[in-house]
Amino acid sequence: MNFAIDTDGIKIKPEPNKKGFCQLCGGPLIAHCGQIYSWHWKHQADRDCDPWHENETKWHRDWKSRFPENWQEVILENEFGEKHIADIKTVTNTVIEFQNSPISSATIEVREAFYGQMIWVVNATPFVERLDIRSIVTTKLRDIDSQYSYASSLEPDPYDSEIKLAQKAITDTNRNISNIEKAIEKVHSEINLFTKTLQQIDSTIELLINKWNQRYKGSNFYNEPPVTRIIGALENTYKLEINSILNQKLELNNNRKVKEELLRFIESHKDILIEGEMHKVIKYNGFTKESFRNIKVISKLEKDSLFPKILRINSEGEYLQYGYNQDKYIFAGDVSQLVLKTKLEIQNIETDHQKLNEEFSKLKPRIGEELQKILSEGIDQSIANIKKLEIDLNNLYSELAKNISDEHHFSRLQTQETAKIQTESEHEKQNKKLEIMKSFKGRYTYDWKHKRPSWRVAKAPIFIDIGEDYLFHIYRKGYLKKITIDTFLRHYQRSKF
Ligand SMILES: [Zn+2]
Repeated sequence: MNFAIDTDGIKIKPEPNKKGFCQLCGGPLIAHCGQIYSWHWKHQADRDCDPWHENETKWHRDWKSRFPENWQEVILENEFGEKHIADIKTVTNTVIEFQNSPISSATIEVREAFYGQMIWVVNATPFVERLDIRSIVTTKLRDIDSQYSYASSLEPDPYDSEIKLAQKAITDTNRNISNIEKAIEKVHSEINLFTKTLQQIDSTIELLINKWNQRYKGSNFYNEPPVTRIIGALENTYKLEINSILNQKLELNNNRKVKEELLRFIESHKDILIEGEMHKVIKYNGFTKESFRNIKVISKLEKDSLFPKILRINSEGEYLQYGYNQDKYIFAGDVSQLVLKTKLEIQNIETDHQKLNEEFSKLKPRIGEELQKILSEGIDQSIANIKKLEIDLNNLYSELAKNISDEHHFSRLQTQETAKIQTESEHEKQNKKLEIMKSFKGRYTYDWKHKRPSWRVAKAPIFIDIGEDYLFHIYRKGYLKKITIDTFLRHYQRSKF
């Protein structure tokens, strides 16, 4: 207690060794004037005369001290003579009760009935960690922020589709440029190839003739597509011609071999001089029966005589008769006509061969002339193509410049428009926030874990002290209003001043 009464019934403050009496029960009080706690009175023997009053703590005394002295520890009595000490009674007859420890619903109801117009100040310092207090302003401001950021995330950026179109056009144009550049490069390499082929035209012709010769098995040097194309055009004309000449030469060679073989065969027979003419000794079977007229027969007995008898065969029958006595005779034939004829044939073959060679050698300048013409035309055509491609390329460069400038243009517009929209939306958001701050300033929601259910019955206003320089007024279930202790005190003391 902050006050006792003296023997005259006057309220007195504690002083060392001072005597005082309880306002309520008249019992003696001891002045506690220590160095730690503020000075106060206490009943002797630790008893408390008002059963409603718990053991008084520093918290109680400090709170009471904030009010005028004549408001503190005021005795109230009801019509039945029941007396209690009100912690504070203001000039407007409001009782303020400071409650430190838990009390039952019954106690709350009884006290509210006794004091009538009253308020509770509850010490929440011991269980402040069980109070989860959230500022309504903070919560609502956070809601506004997320609401606006969500809305802006849904909103497409202005000029987005225009920028995307311009970017796609840049990509497409770049691809077209790269394709044309590749095409120009390809034509350049064709020109190089044509030029190289022109410079090596003689060896090219050799290679072509070899290639077109069906019997040639050498490697193909000209497999680059543009040259292959040109060769294809010439091939149809010359391949047949070349192969026809080569085949004829081959046939002539074969014929000559046969003729030479025949001459060698004739030479391999023994010579025999008959009637001053050179003949060849031929075996009986070396003749055919049809060629009996060419056969001259000499008896072996007469062979070495100076004038041997030359017998003639006049019929096939005679020829066959000689067959039975062939060991007794020498058969000979005059081959001079045959030799002469064969040699003439070989000569003719060689003439033909010579003609074919001449014909073949005339092919080369013809092919060369045509190849030169086709290659030169190819080069001219390629140069014309490059000119066309370069015109296309220049157009594409202009197009690209336009695409890039479009993209810059729309990006700039986007930046401006976005800034404008942001400013507007920011303005609107700030207005909403100001509105919230105005409407919900000092308002809080709370969760009170393990809240004592007894307080639910309280009808008097409840203020919660959490040990700060403000109180929370539970202004409706689940909601708090922050009020500074200064404001709280001024509110009740107003009438005093
Ligand atoms: Zn007492």
